[in-house]
Amino acid sequence: MHLPILPQPATRPEQAPEAKEKCGVVAIWGAAHAASLAYLGMYAQQHRGQEAAGIAVTDGQLLHAHTGMGLVPEVITDELLQRMEAFNGRGAIGHNRYSTAGGSLACNAQPLLESYVGGQVAIAHNGNLVNAAAFRRRFEHAGHLFHTTSDTEVIVHLLASPAQQAAPDPLAATLRRLQGAFSLALLFHDRVELARDPWGWRPLVIGTLDDHGRTAYVAASETIALDVLGARFLREVEPGEIVTLSEAGLASRRFSDPVPRPAHCVFEHVYFAHPASTVFGQNVQLAREAMGERLGTESPVVADFVAPMPDSGRSAAIGFARVTGIPLREAIVPNRYVGRTFIRPTQAQRQLAVRLKLNVVEDIVRGKRVVIVDDSIVRGTTTRAKIAQIRAAGALEIHLRISCPPIKHPCFFGVDFATREQLIAADKTPSQIRDFLGVDSLAFLSLPGLLSVMKRPGTHYCDACYTGDYRVDVDNPSTDPAAVGQLAMF
Ligand code: SF4
Repeated sequence: MHLPILPQPATRPEQAPEAKEKCGVVAIWGAAHAASLAYLGMYAQQHRGQEAAGIAVTDGQLLHAHTGMGLVPEVITDELLQRMEAFNGRGAIGHNRYSTAGGSLACNAQPLLESYVGGQVAIAHNGNLVNAAAFRRRFEHAGHLFHTTSDTEVIVHLLASPAQQAAPDPLAATLRRLQGAFSLALLFHDRVELARDPWGWRPLVIGTLDDHGRTAYVAASETIALDVLGARFLREVEPGEIVTLSEAGLASRRFSDPVPRPAHCVFEHVYFAHPASTVFGQNVQLAREAMGERLGTESPVVADFVAPMPDSGRSAAIGFARVTGIPLREAIVPNRYVGRTFIRPTQAQRQLAVRLKLNVVEDIVRGKRVVIVDDSIVRGTTTRAKIAQIRAAGALEIHLRISCPPIKHPCFFGVDFATREQLIAADKTPSQIRDFLGVDSLAFLSLPGLLSVMKRPGTHYCDACYTGDYRVDVDNPSTDPAAVGQLAMF
């Protein structure tokens, strides 16, 4: 049963016109206050999506869900949380959304709650399916009705279809037909199922929690959610694995063999993940500091101080300053109270918003040679506005150092980069970008440099936005020809 939709705040978080956050999932099983724990886990992962949020709980027989547009505390109000807690269920899942597929619509907020021949299921998805559109076309021609524009809904239609239901393991059969990135949490009345695509694009971890002497389970996109809940890290959900959390405890099965070359998103470490999280077995803050150190070794410069571009460039700036011996100074201070509700329909207003959001300390910058360290450049328009501010404050020289390679290709696996035409590095050389941004020098961390600081072998990371080396055929996504024939069974 869906709860009535509560009135939602009219405002939405303001999004920078650069790379946007992906989604975050959280799941709880076996805890007395599952809804509250899911809420806190979502709150801890707010950085992974600020557009919409939602929660689903089980009362042991039925599922109850609520979703809405806005930040976690705007959508999951105290009153709603009390009602969710009153169901007394021991399982819940939650989702933070930023639309990477399907558009910014309230109907696309997750978890999606559906009824099918197997009962009810609520699903929360982090990632992006490459073959969802092809499946959707086939389903729609077969008469299926969709009530979202999200790629995630295709998963439920596949799960519900006779072809999958006839399989010994319908969920495994469903997942085998998906191409692309998915870290999933599915809530059924009696269990949570977690699954991760065979490439391991997006993170998904499991922890345990002592709940009045019983072991409860927490799963989340990032370990920061486990930390906030006081859960102990147990392990990652492996690529190609399904993990079931139920009253019987934790059980594992595979729906796919591991692929020889995993594709962990390296951009999680560059930008997206929380610095306190451990992602793909490596702490994010330390990885970013190492990127900054490597950048300082590759592209040193004579300057008076290093200034991080808030907040994303801070960790790499620490490493850059450490390895070059140049002092680190906070010359650009973010206004933390701006950005959530500021409507910016025009370019002029967007530039004003940047000035409002980032304040340059003129007395530090004036007459000085400054190294600005940032994590990435996507379209370049926001960076250019920030650089203009630093120049206007009287900087003598501005040297920009970027702790990842130029982003030249769009992402199809859950990161909302601009289209190829809008990516500044797609058709501009570094010197053309330097001129566009108005800096005295510009250098990017090399790809070998970036991969050298990653803990796992470099071949185990997706770097397609830098190289165009997509692990699946994004132009001709497969719907698995053998299985497509089975769709005729509708
Ligand atoms: S293309 Fe880039 S952002 Fe997308 S999954 Fe690969 S590394 Fe991550």
